[in-house]
Amino acid sequence: MKNKKTLWIIIITLLLLVVLGFAIYSFIAGSAEKLSYQQFQDLLSQNKIVTSSLEEKIYNGVHVISGVYEKNGSPHRFVVGINNQQYDYLLNNPMFRDIVSQIVTNQEITSPIWTLAQSLLPVLIMVGVYVWIFSAMSKGGMGGGILGGKSSRPRQIKSDVKFSDVAGINEEKTELVELVDYLRNPNKYAMMGARVPKGVLMEGPPGTGKTLLAKAVAGEANVAFFTMAGSEFEEMFVGLGASRVRDLFGDAKKAAPCIIFIDEIDAVGRKRNTAMGSATNEQTLNQLLVEMDGFGSNSGVIVMAATNRVDVLDPALLRPGRFDRIIQISLPDIREREAILKLHARNKSVSPEIDWKRVAERTPGFSGAQLENVLNEAAILVVRNKRKMITLSDIDEAIDRVVGGPAKKSRAMTIQDKKVVSYHEAGHALIGLKLDSASKVQKVTIIPRGNAGGYTIMTPKDESNFSSKEDLFASIAGYLGGRAAEEIMFGKDKITTGAHDDLDKATNIARRMVTQFGMSSLGLTKYLTMQEESYGQTKGVYSDEVAYKIDIEINTILDNCYKIAHDIISKNLETLELIAESLRVLETITAEQIEYINKYNKLPNEVILEKERMEKEEKKKNAGEILEFEPDEDEKK
Ligand code: ADP
Ligand code: ZN
Repeated sequence: MKNKKTLWIIIITLLLLVVLGFAIYSFIAGSAEKLSYQQFQDLLSQNKIVTSSLEEKIYNGVHVISGVYEKNGSPHRFVVGINNQQYDYLLNNPMFRDIVSQIVTNQEITSPIWTLAQSLLPVLIMVGVYVWIFSAMSKGGMGGGILGGKSSRPRQIKSDVKFSDVAGINEEKTELVELVDYLRNPNKYAMMGARVPKGVLMEGPPGTGKTLLAKAVAGEANVAFFTMAGSEFEEMFVGLGASRVRDLFGDAKKAAPCIIFIDEIDAVGRKRNTAMGSATNEQTLNQLLVEMDGFGSNSGVIVMAATNRVDVLDPALLRPGRFDRIIQISLPDIREREAILKLHARNKSVSPEIDWKRVAERTPGFSGAQLENVLNEAAILVVRNKRKMITLSDIDEAIDRVVGGPAKKSRAMTIQDKKVVSYHEAGHALIGLKLDSASKVQKVTIIPRGNAGGYTIMTPKDESNFSSKEDLFASIAGYLGGRAAEEIMFGKDKITTGAHDDLDKATNIARRMVTQFGMSSLGLTKYLTMQEESYGQTKGVYSDEVAYKIDIEINTILDNCYKIAHDIISKNLETLELIAESLRVLETITAEQIEYINKYNKLPNEVILEKERMEKEEKKKNAGEILEFEPDEDEKK
């Protein structure tokens, strides 16, 4: 399709040039007076011709002489056609010989078209160069050619990463196993009429193994892996991003079954119609949507994309048939950190005294990439000091380096932070547990992600598509539970900014209840349409008076829900304490563990064991023993 288009551009450009050429030619010819041979001879004999202006061209044996002659004292251009005989006559006639022999004769030319072509030649060359540059650009710079920059042709690599190279994130891996099976034999699924997701979006902080996971899917399935970063689609030339998307999908379809991996998809996938997006961006995004719709769900191409912010993505990307599966990947918890450390220590020579569990304890908030970096730094230290094995002190120093380096921002948690976050998240979880209509808690963690200190993953208790007013109240109360717990545990003045995101979500639900769902004293009027909302507006068209009433109403809803949350937590302080403590010990707790706490009102076994171990540790440290990192008795065997 693209080649056809280029061809048409060339043809049309050429036609235009030919027409233009003719116009210029006839303009010049037309402006000169055409003389007969006789008139010319007369002018010659009257000495009216400006000799120096004379020029002659020979077309097919006709001498075309042009020049200037004098008419009533002013110069006039003329042309005259003379045949060979007439020419010879003039040349042999003493009266005219001097003049005619002075005429500058140009080379023999056979046809006027040829002259035209000749004068068009430079233009043609320019057009050619232009077309070449254009096609080179859209192909992505000729391997670092005329337009510089690295090649942005989609990179196709062969991935030899396996799932065993990815530590932790086990649930996420399980979700992807099915994709691997599909890529291995797409026909099986096609025959069953099973629809396999075309797009999988992985959301999580940088360095948590999103790229690694995508490569592992390709590696396990032994299929081609195309990779491109969202920022690579962005170019100063409008339309290039779109054509890159086209190239990427074109190449991938030819290589199917395969994986397309788009890193940092937010660079192209930002919401349209916002100040952030540019026209170029929109074209690229539209092309991406078109391509994703353009291949069937059984074409053997699976698009995996990574971002650390789903909320900035255009909702169109997340519709069914596009990226309809979202996999959340969070920073590793203590056990996952241990697994990652062990994995990367495999190919390094490490002192057997090192207990990875303890290293994991010291690295809360570290991403997988940072943990790998710790081991790498440690290995460098060993080489520098000409030693043979990585020791604990190397690891310690490496941790400091990584924390002191670029990772400083990635908030290593203080003990106090950990305490606050543990009660905050326990607050959310408790509401989920005690309020029937609230969502069911799947997993709670105090490992920070994005702006949030920790987070609680909840899913609706029933699968109904509708939410009752009661459900919505419960959701809001759930979001406010974190803040309520903080207030109860630490007092009104000690509440933190950690609830910032919760308040946002709670307010949104309340606003929709008032302006969209007719669930407040303002009645059934719809004040804000879905459309307005999806464009990020929070205000519809209504008077200031109504706006005021809406605000009051939202406030009332939030206040009431906060009271509910506050009440529930105050009445279940013991449970709150148990959940918070489990969180501080294990960092992440599961739905089962929360249910256990709720049912038996005591700490789950794993928490108790881990707590004992940590306390022993603490005692040793306080006693100032050098044995600090010697393995425990029970671990020795
Ligand atoms: P992301 O794409 O999420 O930014 P990457 O997949 O590029 O992160 O991770 C960078 C590196 O960090 C990986 O190549 C790997 O060495 C290490 N890493 C990150 N997460 C893990 C993990 N879960 N298991 C093993 N290694 C990991
Ligand atoms: Zn919260």
